[in-house]
Amino acid sequence: MRSVYLDNNATTRVDPEVVQTMLPFFTDQFANPSSGHNFGSSASAAITTARRQLQALIGAEFEHEIVFTSGGTESDNAAILSALEIMPDRTQIVTSVVEHPAVLTLCAHLEKRHGIKVHRIPVDQHGRLDLQAYRMALSPHVAIVSIMWANNETGTIFPVAQLASLAKEVGAIFHTDAVQAVGKLPIHLKSSAIDMLSLSGHKLHGPKGIGALWVRRGVRFEAMIKGGHQERGRRAGTANTAGIVGLGKAAELALKFMEDENGRVRSLRDRLEKELLQRIPDAFVTGTPLERLPNTSNIAFEQVEADGILLHLDRYGIACSSGSACTSDSPEPSHVLTAMNIPHISALGVIRFSLSRDNCDDDIDYVLDVLPGIVSDLRGSSSVTPKRAKRRRPLGFVDPKEKGRNPS
Ligand SMILES: *Cc1c(COP(=O)(O)O)cnc(C)c1O
Repeated sequence: MRSVYLDNNATTRVDPEVVQTMLPFFTDQFANPSSGHNFGSSASAAITTARRQLQALIGAEFEHEIVFTSGGTESDNAAILSALEIMPDRTQIVTSVVEHPAVLTLCAHLEKRHGIKVHRIPVDQHGRLDLQAYRMALSPHVAIVSIMWANNETGTIFPVAQLASLAKEVGAIFHTDAVQAVGKLPIHLKSSAIDMLSLSGHKLHGPKGIGALWVRRGVRFEAMIKGGHQERGRRAGTANTAGIVGLGKAAELALKFMEDENGRVRSLRDRLEKELLQRIPDAFVTGTPLERLPNTSNIAFEQVEADGILLHLDRYGIACSSGSACTSDSPEPSHVLTAMNIPHISALGVIRFSLSRDNCDDDIDYVLDVLPGIVSDLRGSSSVTPKRAKRRRPLGFVDPKEKGRNPS
């Protein structure tokens, strides 16, 4: 049976070149990079190389602006908590309703337990941020704005450069969760007003458990993880040399494949999307059609449950993900689709296809062969009726019990 992996926004395959680059750091070059001996300095030199590779990918001015972390979630947490600590007289956060749980769950916690006021900026039905609500939320009470560069479910890209300039005007720190953008979109931090950026290795063909927070030089920073003086006192704990070296190599390769991502991968995505919509009636794309990641297509198939589609696709060896989760006895649309006001009945049938440079034309042909039949069969026996459509959740509501769902 063929196997086709179209769930790259959840995680990507580690590039074999990345694996090769990492291997010596488990064996010969195992030394602690903070050690003064020769073994240590050679590990430390490898980390410097990785920092420069990452610096090149995101267009940072100084390599030491990069702080290695355990991944996107840690970077997001570290950014927000740092801003609140260095500006104790500012007690508000501005974020969006469609952020990743790494940001939303922390914000809900800070709101509930630490009296922080959280502004969650809404989006329209295409997933575009409400700029007027954004401007209104900004004030000198805001410590940090945390808005994602690109959404992991719909692929919608936010105008972060513009948002950052507006945040500057009220003296707030601007952080962006760019986990889905880094490696897919050209990024030039040097010439932007962005202060902090999160990225993650496993979303760009690097290893899991490694990521980075970029902190612009001059932006004050308080370490979340306290201990030794690693990462210039910004992230304690013995450096994950192999992971860092792997992330560096992944960054170098991402730069090399950037054109492929925005050319070949984008046209694969466009063909998949266009032909699915031609062959399957009552289906539509969610999110902005143009301001979108080149690899992501989030499609609502009306009158059918996404879980059923996923199950059948899985039997054919096709992996993708849905825009809903079964939290109790019945499926609920994701917070992103709910925030976009996608009718419940359509949102329950949303499938996310996320491609990568590992995909080829044959993968798309295979999905196009298989999926129309699956949807029409399921529709023939569909249990999705308007009667089952359930109450809608308030915008931006994140159920803590839900943590773990939709891990991208
Ligand atoms: C995957 C993802 C994260 C979490 O990154 P981890 O490295 O898995 O912790 C955060 N934000 C977005 C937008 C993501 O897609």
